[in-house]
Amino acid sequence: MAPQLRLPLPVLEVIERLRSSGHAAYAVGGSVRDLLAQRDPTDHDVATDARPERLLELFPGSRYENRFGTVTAPGPLAGVQITTFRRDHVYGDHRRPNVVTFTDNLDEDLRRRDFTMNAIAYGGGPGSRDFALVDPTGGRADIAAQLVRAVGDPLARFDEDALRLVRAVRLAAKLGFEIEPRTAAAIRASAGLATILSAERVGFEMSRLLAVRPPSRGMRLLGELELLEPLLPELAAQQGVAQNKLPGKDLWDHTLATADAAAELAPDDHGLRLAALLHDVGKPATMNEGRFPRHAEVGAEMARPILDRLAVPRRESERVTRLVAAHMFDFQSGASDAAVRRFIRRVGPDLVLDVLRLREADNIGSGHAGGAGGLDELRDRVMAEFERGSPLTVRELAIDGNELQTALAISPGPPLGQLLSHLLDLVLTDPARNNPDELIRAARAWLAERSAAREPQPGREPPPSLP
Ligand code: ATP
Ligand code: MG
Repeated sequence: MAPQLRLPLPVLEVIERLRSSGHAAYAVGGSVRDLLAQRDPTDHDVATDARPERLLELFPGSRYENRFGTVTAPGPLAGVQITTFRRDHVYGDHRRPNVVTFTDNLDEDLRRRDFTMNAIAYGGGPGSRDFALVDPTGGRADIAAQLVRAVGDPLARFDEDALRLVRAVRLAAKLGFEIEPRTAAAIRASAGLATILSAERVGFEMSRLLAVRPPSRGMRLLGELELLEPLLPELAAQQGVAQNKLPGKDLWDHTLATADAAAELAPDDHGLRLAALLHDVGKPATMNEGRFPRHAEVGAEMARPILDRLAVPRRESERVTRLVAAHMFDFQSGASDAAVRRFIRRVGPDLVLDVLRLREADNIGSGHAGGAGGLDELRDRVMAEFERGSPLTVRELAIDGNELQTALAISPGPPLGQLLSHLLDLVLTDPARNNPDELIRAARAWLAERSAAREPQPGREPPPSLP
């Protein structure tokens, strides 16, 4: 007797509607795999012999999910993706096919799938309400043995679609499975193909890979299977670079330990994890007699193209590069409040707590306590400035650019920006000065000093010009 898999009601309802309308319908892919592996599925796919046009008829209000005719059911059934049985295709360019052909044959649909554990269907033909497992490639046995195994000839399957290289690692890491030896050998042999994947596809799988906890599990596996070099050569360069942090560990170990700590500190903060992964990416290039001068700034520059290559959205990639750039700072216990405020201003009030968290992960990844190096004190004092409502940005000054222009009869332009930033400096040093009178007085003084500096000095020769 087939095991009773606990499919959620909307999935059962979709399958029921299809079967009572004369079609075969099955839950397939990740959800069946996860249920058989005693895990909670993340999303649900239904495969059927009904064609896309028919699906739109049977599920009024549903819409096409992609150009391959996958349909997302409407309303309470939303989240269930329904796909017509498809046939495997001729792949010209190691990427997925750009045309699909439909089939009435479930077996064909299952055999085009990537791994045996993803090629199991649970459902049945039209009319009946019985459920059966259909498993033509031995997926259940592989799930029981905790193995990721390519369907069919692994070399051919990776050659067809190089994204499967990353998916194998992602699924092994997520499920804690091993990669079956022939499949693993084929991944190594085909690893170079990973360079041709589109940013969107590889970025999507990489972000799911990095979401696995601990993130080091998947990242290490990428390294072992020789996928790190083609995908993230800048990080592959960290392997073997000595660090005077943890004995016997190299820079790559430190990066991974930092990413793991970031995932523990902020499980839902994907950007922080990316920043942890990239925080020392500038080290190999800046290494000089065991030191890494300016590695944070260099690393932030290097991070940009990497994040583009992974199609990380602009907003997130901005945040990640700012975090990388800001992660190196010195803090002396007992520093002045003004120094704390200047630190907040330099890093940005919006980002400062995240920078501290990244540094905490960095500490842990270096084998120290999270709050080492005065970090706990610094965080308390940053929070105190926030609570006190200290002005920390130009926008919080007691006078704005327009008011200054009117009061001093000056025009907008770069000098106004410099003036505002000068006023903020004064206020960071002494918040009590943040009132309009005081600021206008300070602005007048600044302008007078500035124009005096620009007046030609009578009686003085201009400096000789250099040839
Ligand atoms: P998750 O549970 O993490 O979503 P998943 O296996 O469901 O994992 P999806 O990307 O949702 O991953 O894919 C759904 C199913 O589609 C897979 O289980 C697999 O059967 C098939 N599939 C996805 N990508 C490929 C691919 N590149 N080549 C072959 N089959 C694939
Ligand atoms: Mg899925």
